Amino acid sequence: MSDIEYRPIKKVFVANRGEIAVRVIRSCRELGIETVLAVSTVDRESVPARLADRTVCIGPPTASASYLNMAALITAALGSGCDALHPGYGFLSENPEFAQMCVDNGLTFVGPAPHVVAEAGDKARAREIARAAGIPVLTGSPILTDVEAASRAAAEIGYPVLVKASAGGGGRGMSVVENDDELRARFSAAGSEAQSAFGDGSLFVEKYIRRARHIEVQVLGDRHGGVVQLGERDCTLQRRHQKVVEESPAPGLDEATRSRIRASGLAFAEAIGLDSAGTVEFIYDADTGDYAFLEFNARIQVEHPVTEAVTGVDLVRQQLRSAQGDRLEFGQGDVTTTGHAIEVRITSESPRDGFLPRAGTLVRWRIPDADGIRVDTHAEEGYVVSPYYDSLLAKVVAYGTDRDDAIARMLAALSALDVQGVPTTADFAHFALDHTDFRTGHVSTNWIAETGLPEFLETP
Ligand code: ADP
Ligand code: ADP
Ligand code: MG
Repeated sequence: MSDIEYRPIKKVFVANRGEIAVRVIRSCRELGIETVLAVSTVDRESVPARLADRTVCIGPPTASASYLNMAALITAALGSGCDALHPGYGFLSENPEFAQMCVDNGLTFVGPAPHVVAEAGDKARAREIARAAGIPVLTGSPILTDVEAASRAAAEIGYPVLVKASAGGGGRGMSVVENDDELRARFSAAGSEAQSAFGDGSLFVEKYIRRARHIEVQVLGDRHGGVVQLGERDCTLQRRHQKVVEESPAPGLDEATRSRIRASGLAFAEAIGLDSAGTVEFIYDADTGDYAFLEFNARIQVEHPVTEAVTGVDLVRQQLRSAQGDRLEFGQGDVTTTGHAIEVRITSESPRDGFLPRAGTLVRWRIPDADGIRVDTHAEEGYVVSPYYDSLLAKVVAYGTDRDDAIARMLAALSALDVQGVPTTADFAHFALDHTDFRTGHVSTNWIAETGLPEFLETP
């Protein structure tokens, strides 16, 4: 592994938008790296567009014509003299074909090697890697080719089961089925939905955990075989299988389980040969105390700031360093966590309307500024929330000496947030974090749907 090329990055093409574009530009600047930002026609005057050294318009607003247009992005990156490309999260960040195209065109891909991206993007394959590495995996099937095979596999696993798209992401491509009739009714539609949403109709079935917590481990590798884990995040508060609140460390976990989950995360990163930042996701069964591997995300995660807050490590800086061939700046023994951090995703969605994303103009946008508060955002007064993209407006991160302190700071920050023009999830997040169930750590991934939202809707 000593023949790794050291190829310092001078100019990065940022193939994304929104808060993550702002975040990537910040770390590039700190490392003295120039940035060129891809913008669609509606993003020309955006906050990240003003922060970047320059922008290249890559097409009309529709994602398929701009931020998902591989040929346009590569052409723009090469044409503007970039030597590397950062894909952010979402969009093309987990597309192995795109990672390979970057490499083939001489661009350093700021992410894992293309084969790692490919194996991670296939959930069934990732489960096999985890199993082979001795990591607990939920009872489940390989890819299923027909409904009879699915029916046999589900009967063997025992209902309820989850029918999952192997290429799924963003909480989409999953259905809980309670019995054989439901499975048969759902199977073929799930396949066609997965085909049209992810370009791959492969399905498998997996044991469904009713009272689950989502716990994930941040991992980091370099191109010389070095890997470390940076502790776990608890992302249990979710709506539609998508995260709303994340924190680190995970509350109320016994220390033996915490160490085992962290060790499993590290073992997975080693097994897949991780050479960049990634996240190993686990499901924790609150009834049995067991945990199992869910999937691996080969990219920077939305909620990476909570890990940065408790470890002091700048994860985007580490991605850039690993990509240019540097060795990790620290070893496992140097990683320590202090205090507690919580992140709330502020999205332009109305909880009173089933968390439906809403477009509009921010006629008022005042964000909190206080000790221990970090706000990652691309929003500003006058910003037009477009229907074309994700509804994330900002991430508010509160850091405190302990969990209660972090919650108190977050509640104050959420109260100070003043947004007009679109509905946001801030009030609901305030309600949820102030709830006894959250304060005492008694929530599961279904808490919002079953308890939080109904109770919130009853409050005047
Ligand atoms: P995590 O990174 O924690 O796994 P999600 O899966 O909720 O969080 O976030 C990734 C998702 O964010 C993508 O699948 C996509 O739906 C959405 N997304 C894509 N691009 C952006 C963007 N620029 N800003 C915000 N969200 C985006
Ligand atoms: P995605 O790629 O969409 O993020 P994941 O496999 O990570 O897909 O699952 C997203 C969420 O769905 C998890 O955080 C969890 O809340 C729920 N989930 C996934 N698999 C299971 C399962 N087997 N049992 C219970 N909940 C699950
Ligand atoms: Mg996931």
